[in-house]
Amino acid sequence: MKQSKYFNPTLRDNPADAEIKSHQLLVRAGFIRQNASGIYSYLPLGKKVLSKIEQVIRKELDEAGAQELLMPAIQPAELWQETGRWDVYGPELMRLKDRHGRPFALGATHEELITSLVRDELSSYKQLPVTLYQIQTKYRDERRPRFGLLRGREFIMKDAYSFHSSEEQLDDAYKLMHKTYSKIFTSLGLDFRPVVADSGAIGGKDTEEFMALSSVGEDTIAYSDSSDYAANIEMAEVHVQYEKSDEEELPFAKGEVETSLDHQIHTTVMKVEDEMIAVLVRGDHELNEIKVKNLYGTNMVEVQNEEVDLKEFKGTVIADTAVKAIANGSIIGAYAYHNVNPDRDLSIERYEDLRFIQEGDPSPDGNGTIVFAEGIEIGQVFKLGQTYSETMGAKFLDEGGKAQPLIMGCYGIGVSRTLAAIAEQNADDNGLRWPLAVTPYHVHLITINVKDADQSDLSDRLYDSLKDEHDVLYDDRKERAGVKFKDADLIGLPLRVVVGKKANEGIVEVKRRDTGESIEVPVDNLNSTLQ
Ligand code: ATP
Ligand code: MG
Ligand code: MG
Ligand code: MG
Repeated sequence: MKQSKYFNPTLRDNPADAEIKSHQLLVRAGFIRQNASGIYSYLPLGKKVLSKIEQVIRKELDEAGAQELLMPAIQPAELWQETGRWDVYGPELMRLKDRHGRPFALGATHEELITSLVRDELSSYKQLPVTLYQIQTKYRDERRPRFGLLRGREFIMKDAYSFHSSEEQLDDAYKLMHKTYSKIFTSLGLDFRPVVADSGAIGGKDTEEFMALSSVGEDTIAYSDSSDYAANIEMAEVHVQYEKSDEEELPFAKGEVETSLDHQIHTTVMKVEDEMIAVLVRGDHELNEIKVKNLYGTNMVEVQNEEVDLKEFKGTVIADTAVKAIANGSIIGAYAYHNVNPDRDLSIERYEDLRFIQEGDPSPDGNGTIVFAEGIEIGQVFKLGQTYSETMGAKFLDEGGKAQPLIMGCYGIGVSRTLAAIAEQNADDNGLRWPLAVTPYHVHLITINVKDADQSDLSDRLYDSLKDEHDVLYDDRKERAGVKFKDADLIGLPLRVVVGKKANEGIVEVKRRDTGESIEVPVDNLNSTLQ
């Protein structure tokens, strides 16, 4: 590709709204452009990376026996009403009406749609197991779209769904998908870690998240420094037993937490010595919102994943999937919520029995001490069980001829988020640094001075001879060398071939983007050097 003709607008400065490296660099290097909050275009370079990530995902999933299909992004509201998620999902689900006034949703996920698709088709145990997947655009009206592609409102997801006649079949598919995800993220050159996660919101059983380790990650992982134990802190928190502290420091230590689940809202009442000190009300779909009402008569405080002082009882309530209340520096109350599925047991721990996990704690599996790290959730695997097939009546006939709800698993990868995570992990102050597996082009061929006939002739010749075997981006622009090098660093292709003053001797410079090493190479040896 000749850069003089290429649609690759680069920027010298960081866009004002970009807080993190990957967002800044992907915009500056001309990979993406924002069209509205959380909504992006992928420019030619960005689209190339996206396609390469998709290729890696497709290859591994196909190898694991999954079959690709494509479902609609527009889904009839009736399907979401069947499972109750039309109400439960809340404002994150984007809704629209057709010209006849019929309601639809823009797919935030596809459990309902795929269950309705297979319920008429998979009718016998003989057709099972089956795993289907798609790579498609998803819509979620996130409360806080941010960090570029990391949290978009329109984003690309690979979602897979598996269907089974027994729990054993589901176990096997789950294990295989887990292994396949590890292969995918390894091929993509990511530093990642699978962690045990909380299955509350989707109403399933076992689930693990795949976390790309990164300081900009919105999730915290608690892992053991000397074993395989690793959990999302939301999960790890409820694993650890409370060691009772000195009563003196716990003026509110005696009390209880009561909880009720009333459709989409649940309420936690904290009592101290029979007196209520706080009521926490939580809407299922508002993932980060907790309303805290202090019963001593004052305002409702809205907590959005932040700490807020409840002055009236000199404490703090931290709102997240698990809630803890701290008074005078000590934890006085905590609960973990599970939502959406009203049949689930709420796991509410009395606060005397619960303590939040901390770095340096011994842990949960008896090995080593706990370390914290930040992670970006790039994928998740779930054993869904029969939650969706039961409510939607998707049944198969078992060997005995008995009708049973299909047993399901579901597996997601944030494709566009993964692109940003790779960029986040592979960049320096000068720009991006693409790993080979996903780089938009392998070689950046740069002519220092296109007006010099020796240089431009040799460059043209090299471009023609290299481009069959290598993906080459050819900077044939009439720009100053400084501009070209800056852009090349920013774009971050793995190998750079610079045609400069020694063109007349048939010598070029080859430079690696990752190590910065450079060597002079006679053009006859160039092909082998680039292998
Ligand atoms: P998060 O906790 O970050 O909101 P999630 O748990 O809601 O993600 P899932 O429903 O598990 O997301 O979707 C599967 C994958 O889709 C996630 O693991 C993530 O990689 C990706 N994903 C989810 N929401 C977004 C988003 N708003 N923008 C980009 N990718 C996303
Ligand atoms: Mg989410
Ligand atoms: Mg999540
Ligand atoms: Mg998830």
